[in-house]
Amino acid sequence: TTDGIILQDYIRNIPDFPKPGIQFKDITPLLAHPAALRAAVERLAAPFADRKVDAIAAAEARGFLFAAPMALMLGVGLVPIRKPGKLPYTTVSAEYALEYGTDRLEMHSDALSPGHRILIVDDVLATGGTMKACCDLVRDAGAEVVACAFLLELGFLNGRAKLAPTEVFSVLSY
Ligand code: 5GP
Repeated sequence: TTDGIILQDYIRNIPDFPKPGIQFKDITPLLAHPAALRAAVERLAAPFADRKVDAIAAAEARGFLFAAPMALMLGVGLVPIRKPGKLPYTTVSAEYALEYGTDRLEMHSDALSPGHRILIVDDVLATGGTMKACCDLVRDAGAEVVACAFLLELGFLNGRAKLAPTEVFSVLSY
């Protein structure tokens, strides 16, 4: 059983990465530890077992690491959301603001059907810009966002407010 696993013990703080002043939450120790990885995936997926989710969507790259095992656990498929130029078929895209400039995420135009109930997953919620772009892609396709799920939420950055009124679930909060 994974009941006794304290996930915080497997997340490490890296000062000044990727830039001076940023305290980066490094999840690689968690990924490397079998019971911690299992506990993280179970705790991310469990709240959604009875929520009639049709598919999981996630943005590269760290979102994928949790989305695939969650999809297996919930018995649904996985829709990848990617940086520009990576997906081979026709895509739709959503733009989001960075500290300087903008970036874009893409999804296949036929990835979702109208009315589908989608759970969107990522490792960390910071400012919420990345997840907001994912929500825009899902909704522009006519699908519904059931919730956004994160392993870890950096509460002081108020990403939750940017995503409101969409439901936000985080396993851990800092
Ligand atoms: P946001 O768009 O919410 O500002 O940033 C969230 C995105 O950046 C997520 O895709 C996440 O993977 C990445 N990210 C931002 N800060 C961190 C961090 O401290 N640790 C990790 N692992 N990812 C982060």
